[in-house]
Amino acid sequence: MEYKTFLIKYAEIGTKGKNRYKFEDHLCKRMRQRLKALGDFEVRREYGRIFVDAKSDFDYDEAMNRLTKIFGISGVCPVMQVDSLEYDDISAGVLKYVEEEIAGMLTGRSVASSPLTFKMNVRRHNKEYPINSMEMAARLGGDVLDKYEEKGMKVDVHKPEIVIDVEIRNVAYISSKVIPGACGLPVGTNGKAISLLSGGIDSPVATYMIAKRGVEMEAVYFNAPPYTSERAKDKVKDLGRIVAQYAGPIKLHIVNFTDCQLAIYKNCPHEELTIIMKRLMFRMAEDIAKKDDCQCIVTGESIGQVSSQTTFSLRVINDAVTDIPVFRPLIGMDKQEIVEMSQKIGTYETSILPYEDCCTIFVAKHPVTKPTLEQIEESEKKLEGIIEPLYQTALETAEVVYLK
Ligand code: ATP
Ligand code: MG
Repeated sequence: MEYKTFLIKYAEIGTKGKNRYKFEDHLCKRMRQRLKALGDFEVRREYGRIFVDAKSDFDYDEAMNRLTKIFGISGVCPVMQVDSLEYDDISAGVLKYVEEEIAGMLTGRSVASSPLTFKMNVRRHNKEYPINSMEMAARLGGDVLDKYEEKGMKVDVHKPEIVIDVEIRNVAYISSKVIPGACGLPVGTNGKAISLLSGGIDSPVATYMIAKRGVEMEAVYFNAPPYTSERAKDKVKDLGRIVAQYAGPIKLHIVNFTDCQLAIYKNCPHEELTIIMKRLMFRMAEDIAKKDDCQCIVTGESIGQVSSQTTFSLRVINDAVTDIPVFRPLIGMDKQEIVEMSQKIGTYETSILPYEDCCTIFVAKHPVTKPTLEQIEESEKKLEGIIEPLYQTALETAEVVYLK
């Protein structure tokens, strides 16, 4: 069937009481934004429901792909619309729907051995409608059986394989399928965060997870040319673009970290390099966050994954950020769980491309795993008078790109 109308299901927004409208506004805006390039669409709200109507030809698969990635949507139902509310017209619509969408599943089925069980579910928003919901469901179910019982369909109101929904408003909508959406809350309803985005597996997943809670995302990537290549930078942009399909446009700050990194390499104990470097990255992220009104920092750290992610290292790195919270949504996840999530959201294949990261050059053979704050602060004293101008230059010369 060629669908022209979609009913949008949303889960958590429904619990928002008076604020619900604000959430719905964000959701509709985002849907319009994402569908615009695919054709002429109308996104409309009606009695606590959101509908999308296609007013032109469009690519169904791509529209579905885009809608199911928008945070706030728990599912998308393609619906068939019947413009007349005459019983006979609705019944004819239901039979057409069954013929086109369900009859194909009847091959090899029979009522005696393996029936395809269904239930009619009728809702009337139009209470003026003369037939009540129960009676309507019984009559429509009877019409379906008249035609399809012989072919293997059977009513089961308790555990049906298929529920055929008929919703009566000023027109009637028939549907039976829900394509699962990304869930979460519409981006823009929960402030803004800056994510430390590297080219690895973890940080794109972390960025996705925080965006899923309705948070608008910025990102910062530290690169170290010529030690890291243009391709490594492109990879980070590509990852940002994949996440942006869910999270909406992402402002990415690309910081040239080479001089800072070389200064640390020259002046500090090599086994502490990663820790000191990370502390500088976090400080810089905090500065950008404050300038751009971000309320929090996000990283892809997970306890014990590498030496700089032991609880000791995290404690010392965390101390570099003074005023805003650092969120680490992957902190208790196993690598395999993170990998599975990155496969699900579509970042994995890009993440595993083998380009170097600034954290993997200049790595010590035996990095510290139990640093103390006193020890690291002592080492950082060697950078006094050296690092500040490099730090400022790196911040001032950061390149900004918008990913969408
Ligand atoms: P990822 O898979 O996200 O690259 P990782 O397992 O390689 O993480 P680390 O290199 O220790 O772990 O980095 C921990 C976190 O620090 C990353 O998840 C990311 O948030 C941040 N980070 C690391 N390198 C960079 C970088 N070059 N630019 C921006 N953030 C970075
Ligand atoms: Mg990494």
